[in-house]
Amino acid sequence: MAKVLIENLYKIYPAEKGRPEKIAVDNANFEIQDREFMVLVGPSGCGKTTTLRMVAGLEEITRGSIYLDGKKINEVAPKDRDIAMVFQNYALYPHMSVYRNMAFGLELRGVPKDEIRRRVDSTAKILGLLEPDNLLERKPKALSGGQRQRVALGRAIVRKPKAFLFDEPLSNLDAKMRVETRTEISKLHRQLDSTMIYVTHDQTEAMTMADRIVVMRYGKIQQIAPPLELYHRPANLFVAGFIGSPPMNLLQGTLQASPKGALEFVENVTPPHFPFRGVLSTDTSRRLSSRQGKEVILGFRPEQLHPNSTASKHTLQGILEVVEPMGAETYLYLKTGAHSCICRTTETDLGLKEGSKINLGVDLSRAVFFDPKTEETIPT
Ligand code: ATP
Repeated sequence: MAKVLIENLYKIYPAEKGRPEKIAVDNANFEIQDREFMVLVGPSGCGKTTTLRMVAGLEEITRGSIYLDGKKINEVAPKDRDIAMVFQNYALYPHMSVYRNMAFGLELRGVPKDEIRRRVDSTAKILGLLEPDNLLERKPKALSGGQRQRVALGRAIVRKPKAFLFDEPLSNLDAKMRVETRTEISKLHRQLDSTMIYVTHDQTEAMTMADRIVVMRYGKIQQIAPPLELYHRPANLFVAGFIGSPPMNLLQGTLQASPKGALEFVENVTPPHFPFRGVLSTDTSRRLSSRQGKEVILGFRPEQLHPNSTASKHTLQGILEVVEPMGAETYLYLKTGAHSCICRTTETDLGLKEGSKINLGVDLSRAVFFDPKTEETIPT
């Protein structure tokens, strides 16, 4: 069992040396369930590492509480928390062999020698540190970045902690190794069946690894949800823009009454450009009826734009600025009257010329509407 509860948590760095007070974590409230893989994600400086370090006991809590399995741990020393942390820079002891790096923490805790040998060997096997090459007697400097990170993981695993904390563990690896190690950590999570809290600024890591994601900005939690819910139902414009790559398309416009009684979204543009117009379904129109005549921001994902405009009842006109062939799919970047949009299509042989006029079909069935003033999603 390892359930972590974070309650009314604040971290405020006091003003000093001419620097103003900094609220790094601003009233965080969330629970990480037993065996859950929770990812904290957000741009640099949003407070995710500070939150993680408070859970680890490496950072003093200004206000609020952290509970591990119902027990308040605010005042418990890091070594007594039964939580293991894996850092971005691996934090290995350079003068110790891989074996001793993994064994050292257990030695300090007085674990018997043969038990240490057993745990290190079985963990090294899981992590591929025995084959094809046995790396146990090597020093960290004779390892690749990926191998060092696996040793750091191993050091955490042998402790059999109640929960694992990861602070950007893949940032120092090259792109290929990052993807490989990402998959390894996901597999480990299933194998070890333990609670994991993982910090990253990379939304792809968050989307691919998490059971649930906490999105943070300026110290405040923006939304907590499983990856696909964040993707399809972002709580606000920030989450809509941060989650998903390429990002969501956003068009500013007005909701107008259409002849058939439904609402119609009309993009804000100035002549000679033609606005994008899209009639909403009866249900969506009813739910947005109080917004008739008002400004909204329409959001739709790049895959909801289709090069074959005749297949859709809504057409977006624009100038094709860039075509990016990605292999299995193609990204089309186009400029409409007032906005830029991205289309992501699995059609790879489009024969489209950059600079030409293009009509794209828009599927509005998963469209999201935002209030331009509050930037919050309007419930539909
Ligand atoms: P990154 O991805 O860049 O590590 P982060 O989301 O993990 O960012 P934190 O490291 O948690 O962000 O920092 C949150 C905020 O607190 C930042 O604005 C940072 O500058 C500030 N901060 C961190 N440590 C201190 C400190 N010791 N004194 C004052 N401000 C600090």
